[in-house]
Amino acid sequence: MKKSSKNNDFDENKHSNNYSKTFAEVTAFHGHVCPGSALGFKAATLGLEKLKSSKSSDEEIVAIVENDSCAVDAIQVLTGCTFGKGNLIFNDFGKQVYTFLNRSTEEGVRISLKDSFEMSELDPELSILREKISSGEASPQEKEILKEKISAVTEKLLQIDEEKIFQTEEVKMTMPPKASLFKSIKCAKCGELVSEHRTKKLDGVEVCIPCSK
Ligand SMILES: [Zn+2]
Ligand SMILES: [Zn+2]
Repeated sequence: MKKSSKNNDFDENKHSNNYSKTFAEVTAFHGHVCPGSALGFKAATLGLEKLKSSKSSDEEIVAIVENDSCAVDAIQVLTGCTFGKGNLIFNDFGKQVYTFLNRSTEEGVRISLKDSFEMSELDPELSILREKISSGEASPQEKEILKEKISAVTEKLLQIDEEKIFQTEEVKMTMPPKASLFKSIKCAKCGELVSEHRTKKLDGVEVCIPCSK
């Protein structure tokens, strides 16, 4: 009996260290081609390589991201880390920093953008054109050119060696707890159910965060 290629792919994912996720899969998930998602693709590629891991099965990998840009969608696709599984943690620090932890080996790697890496150098005209377009002064033709420039920069970025973009640092970190289920209680003000670890005390009663403000 012939095995379907889908099954073969699955087996390879599970048993080898080669992550088979491609940038096309990132674009399918993210919705558009952009340098940001390419940057996330590179960060996750490097992170998984350093951790010698493949896509997270059963919450093995934890990703801590320090921004909520396009890059994070690539991180999710490559690592399999998601909010729902509790293994994608967002620290709102506004930094191009990604930490990947392996729960089983307890190893971690912190990947941060090198200050020597200047994205705008890939195409200095891109940001000028972008500004022109956002100020509403661009012609339809210039809008087309922008699209082409964005694809070209994204492609360039994908070709650059990850080590030229990011610096890596081994880290030892206490693993964040696995996703757990919390009991819900009724907010004393709006009556909606809210996870008990997210309630606030207001005038002696438990309320939800929006009602506490
Ligand atoms: Zn994007
Ligand atoms: Zn409420």
